[in-house]
Amino acid sequence: MAYTLPALPYTYDALEPHFDARTMEIHHTKHHQAYITNLNTALQSAGITGPECVCDLISDLKSIPENIRMAVRNNGGGHANHSFFWKILSPKGGGEPTGALADAINASFGDFATFKTKFADAGVKRFGSGWAWLGVGCDKKLSVCSTSNQDNPIMKKGCDCSCLPDCLCCPILGLDVWEHAYYLKYQNKRADYITAFWNLVDWNAVSERYSKAIAK
Ligand code: MN
Repeated sequence: MAYTLPALPYTYDALEPHFDARTMEIHHTKHHQAYITNLNTALQSAGITGPECVCDLISDLKSIPENIRMAVRNNGGGHANHSFFWKILSPKGGGEPTGALADAINASFGDFATFKTKFADAGVKRFGSGWAWLGVGCDKKLSVCSTSNQDNPIMKKGCDCSCLPDCLCCPILGLDVWEHAYYLKYQNKRADYITAFWNLVDWNAVSERYSKAIAK
């Protein structure tokens, strides 16, 4: 079955003023949709039916025929990353995490402010296009990392390809730092976009992902 664009759990203007409605609509209906269309085209060209969850597809790239592997990596990654991103944002987001996630952030980074600085740095310093991530590693500890293009830390699972992301973790928070995510409102000021992002993070959703990740 072909992959389809998931509906957003809020309206395009719901994240104003931090993320503007026009950017959200283009990001969802044009950019995210294009990754899905290109992914479906690549898979169909090889006669492959992808697994229901696109995460299962991109975490096993070595099983994909070489002639479409890069297309699946870029577009499957794009589909997975954006589907993930929409769900960790909320009009009622912001503030700070509580409970086990707050304890884990304090244990790994010292305090919440230090974590935020480290995560923002990962996004600001990503050269070109990519993502910043907070994830749970194999050691069950939290770490911050960054990937280029539409790569996702789970792509490295079971793969020996040295060109894949150098971090291996289960992401629980991610931030799109492609220019298409912020240029209309923030132009070249990526750091301002990242500052605005903190007002939208749904820490309940991130906490749920944390609980599932450490239970694995
Ligand atoms: Mn994007």
